Amino acid sequence: MTWENYYMPSSIEEALSLLDKHQGEARLIAGGTDLMVQHKSEPIEAKALIDIGGIPDLKKIHEENGRVYVGAAATHSQVVSSPLLKEKGRVLVDAAKAVGALQIRNVGTIAGNVVTAQPAADTAIALVALDACVHIQSGSEKLEKPVLDTFLGPGKSSINPSKELITAFSYPTPTSLERTGFIRFARRDSLALPLVNLGFWLILKEDQKTVKEIRIAVGPMSTVPFRARETEASMKDVQISEEELEKAGLVIAEEVTPRDSFRGSADFKKYLIGVALKRAIKVVLDGKGVDWDD
Ligand SMILES: Cc1cc2nc3c(=O)[nH]c(=O)nc-3n(C[C@H](O)[C@H](O)[C@H](O)COP(=O)(O)OP(=O)(O)OC[C@H]3O[C@@H](n4cnc5c(N)ncnc54)[C@H](O)[C@@H]3O)c2cc1C
Repeated sequence: MTWENYYMPSSIEEALSLLDKHQGEARLIAGGTDLMVQHKSEPIEAKALIDIGGIPDLKKIHEENGRVYVGAAATHSQVVSSPLLKEKGRVLVDAAKAVGALQIRNVGTIAGNVVTAQPAADTAIALVALDACVHIQSGSEKLEKPVLDTFLGPGKSSINPSKELITAFSYPTPTSLERTGFIRFARRDSLALPLVNLGFWLILKEDQKTVKEIRIAVGPMSTVPFRARETEASMKDVQISEEELEKAGLVIAEEVTPRDSFRGSADFKKYLIGVALKRAIKVVLDGKGVDWDD
């Protein structure tokens, strides 16, 4: 079965009523950079595609009532060029910069990246580091849940894109003591998922040197984006220095359990994740940005 209708709704309400009308037999599509690739190997089982890429309310990036909101259909390029996110969502900006090439970033969206549910999807890792909330609508029902809870396994999401529409992701507006960052290592010629990636969020104590709390998200270290909670606990109340970062690098290398793959051996990934943690935190605390080459 292949789709008979292709809809291009202009509002969230219209998209929801199309999902409702097709009673689970339609499928949402945004940039199509994952769905169309999947369709080649496994044809999409849907009578209709609902293209949400042109709905202005799904593309908004804004701040409201102490939270930063990123519309589900915001493209990676939109995220990269958002002045608000450059100031208040750096981990997401640096992750979006790392996605594919410009052509992919211009159409691929952050909700698509999350629903595809790959354990090392770049902006998904950043959203987990931010402990972002996913805003979902299905019919008249509105639901919110932590982004980490949507990942069920490789390629498996709790979001049903034939019934549920992600409208946005949100997280608390950061204070002046919060820092975030993202880093990834990939093969030089690759245009796809990384060898390892890491996003972090941390809040410093008043001395601006000691970690009050930290969240670290890494991929591909498990079947889903992975929170390195043991490493997080080991870094709490620690004053950041070269020596302490070295120790944290060893803790995270012990904590993760990557597997051998064509991208690299498990041992190499363990080593790299330690380097990634040290480097990501150092770069951000030194006030430098990550400059990805196209
Ligand atoms: C050449 C190439 C390079 C790539 N490089 C990278 C990379 O470096 N890093 C990386 O992380 N990814 C990469 N990707 C994967 C892909 O581009 C991203 O995952 C992208 O963000 C997917 O977004 P999309 O809008 O294209 O999703 P789509 O293909 O449109 O949709 C993907 C899934 O999400 C569902 N969906 C989309 N929007 C919603 C919504 N609002 N609510 C509910 N369900 C929804 C769809 O039904 C579908 O199941 C690459 C892909 C290609 C082809």
